[in-house]
Amino acid sequence: MKKPATLILFISALWITGCSNDTTMSENPFYSESTLPFEAPDFNTIENRHFMPAFERGMEEQLNEIDSIATQESEPTFENTIVAMELSGDLLTRVQRVFFNLTSAHTNEEIQNIQSELAPKLAAHSDNIYLNRELFNRVETLYHNVDELNLDDESEKLLTDTYRDFVRAGAQLTEEQQSRMRQINERISSLTTEFQEKLLQLTRERAVVVDDESMLEGLSRDRIASAKEAAEQSGHEDSYLINISNTTRHPLLSSLSNREMRQQLWEVSAYRGLGQDGGIDTRPIVLELVELRAERAKLLGYDTFAHFALEPQTGESPERVLELLRDLIPPVISNSDVEAQLIREYMIQDGIEDDLRPWDWEYYAEKVRQERYDIDDSVVREYFELDKVLNDGVFYAMERLFGITFEERSDLPVYHEDVRVWNVMDEDGSQIGLFYGDFFSRDSKRGGAWMNSFVVQSHLKEKKPVVVNVLNITPPAEGEPALVSFSNVTTLFHEMGHAVHGLFSDVTYPSLAGTSVPRDFVEFPSTFQEDWAILPEVLENYAVHYETGERIPQDLLDKLIAAREFNQGFDTYEYLGATVVDMEWHLLNPSMIPSDVEAFEQASLAKYNLANPAIPPRYKSTYFSHIFSGGYSANYYAYIWSEILAADAFAFMQNQGGLTRENGDRFRDYILSRGGSDEAMDLYRDYRGGEPDVEHLLERRGLN
Ligand SMILES: [Zn+2]
Repeated sequence: MKKPATLILFISALWITGCSNDTTMSENPFYSESTLPFEAPDFNTIENRHFMPAFERGMEEQLNEIDSIATQESEPTFENTIVAMELSGDLLTRVQRVFFNLTSAHTNEEIQNIQSELAPKLAAHSDNIYLNRELFNRVETLYHNVDELNLDDESEKLLTDTYRDFVRAGAQLTEEQQSRMRQINERISSLTTEFQEKLLQLTRERAVVVDDESMLEGLSRDRIASAKEAAEQSGHEDSYLINISNTTRHPLLSSLSNREMRQQLWEVSAYRGLGQDGGIDTRPIVLELVELRAERAKLLGYDTFAHFALEPQTGESPERVLELLRDLIPPVISNSDVEAQLIREYMIQDGIEDDLRPWDWEYYAEKVRQERYDIDDSVVREYFELDKVLNDGVFYAMERLFGITFEERSDLPVYHEDVRVWNVMDEDGSQIGLFYGDFFSRDSKRGGAWMNSFVVQSHLKEKKPVVVNVLNITPPAEGEPALVSFSNVTTLFHEMGHAVHGLFSDVTYPSLAGTSVPRDFVEFPSTFQEDWAILPEVLENYAVHYETGERIPQDLLDKLIAAREFNQGFDTYEYLGATVVDMEWHLLNPSMIPSDVEAFEQASLAKYNLANPAIPPRYKSTYFSHIFSGGYSANYYAYIWSEILAADAFAFMQNQGGLTRENGDRFRDYILSRGGSDEAMDLYRDYRGGEPDVEHLLERRGLN
């Protein structure tokens, strides 16, 4: 509710600025701070038409603030320059955080149109700040006189980071170079947005439609019913429709017993974005993007984009990262060979003489799991009911480690009816922040799972964190319990790892809060939390039969843990495939850009001995959103790099007694509360009392 006085003020302000937009200030919820607890976004009042005016005004406001900082007469001080910049752009931050959560989690045509229009404008806005010479002069002066400023460690880190951000954005380039930089940045942002839109469109459009139910043999009754429903919704009467998922591998490949059906589903997935039959072709975007990125890196004085991208990461350089990857490849290949052999045996038993194809792998891997480890996924699921997994698994582990508790509340507005909200309470009764959970997949959501922040913690701005976890769990049929797979369970723990990184943040500056750490470090706290899912004392607590309430039988639990190592060869292989493709694209010179996307991809895989046709990369270039529309360009290696720390920290904690408050507190104090307030690897070494040991990664993946 707005107070009348505020309304009058807003109207006069509107009149004075002569704004012709039909959205008046008083109506636009972004123009003032949300009055909800923790400044939670007021989704009851936010409408699509509010975004563009809020963005426009937000950018304008911030540029005015930046201009005042840059042109002030006083000599530069940390306060009047660096802190002032931290304090700028409130409105823009508010609208951005809501908007970019929706573009991923709950988009529609209108939001997509706004996003396309906005992308180059935001790129230009960022350049207007980072290429502002007067502003940079102030930052540079401070940076070179840092020793005289007597800053605390966090402030010094902020100054160093800010200076580095300016330099990396092109602050030291000539006028001419800067104008080219602006062009490149605007074009890149339009292209990445276009790539994201096309992928979403592909995910909606590309599907296998069959009218013979026997083609779906192996699927559950529920799954068949939803395939029928999906067909009807898209105008196919008496048929069944299965959409593709975001990865090359489709989750239903493990259940479909009809080989032809599997092949169809695999092909419709793996050949997306190739412009087949006049369809969507994402290859021109891929080629233009890598060329522009290469040019941008050259302008800034780097050999390649990969060198530019790796510099602020803990991995430091593509050479160093590739060295680790090369060490991993031989054990991964030998493990996947063993798996392939086993799978071939099962295929021969089934009377298939043909070579092992990618559409066979998951199906027979599942058979191996069922027979060798005697695990039936559908039986396992009965012990993984979503609410039990959350309350007695994820939240339980967090309570045991950190003493925190989660209280669900239903009074806060959400952007979709599936979204739920929890208060996160500290042991002393104080409230840490808010946690949103958006667990089920739907058409308006992109694939994958991620964490976002609606509000970022900072003492400077007196803000507490509001974070959200978004997943893509297949929703249950009407009236049925939400039974989830073990991989969903692991993802819930993983995303909670990101959530607590945001929630426990205890820093002064918003730029350094929570997950504002190098990309190849950010997956460490999340991957670390995954392993609690299979710790017997946690598993026993949440893995309870949804109907009988019985605990998961010990033998099933043992098998589940044993089976975890099976197929790790394949998993790591397909991941490494995508990783080297990412790296190779970004190790190109602007003059070396190839014209054939698929041929380049194949050559890159072959170069690293990762071209086994039965194990294609997890993402092919034409739908590799991490690197062509997300922030993982030349950084897809970050997952396995972070996993070195995750495996090492987990082993370290197990040696110290495992799931205890003492261990949790140490992790919270040394890592989770610190955000980016210190160098990432320094944080790690202080926590661990030494360097990480890569051996724990191999153990974790069963590759040693
Ligand atoms: Zn993650």
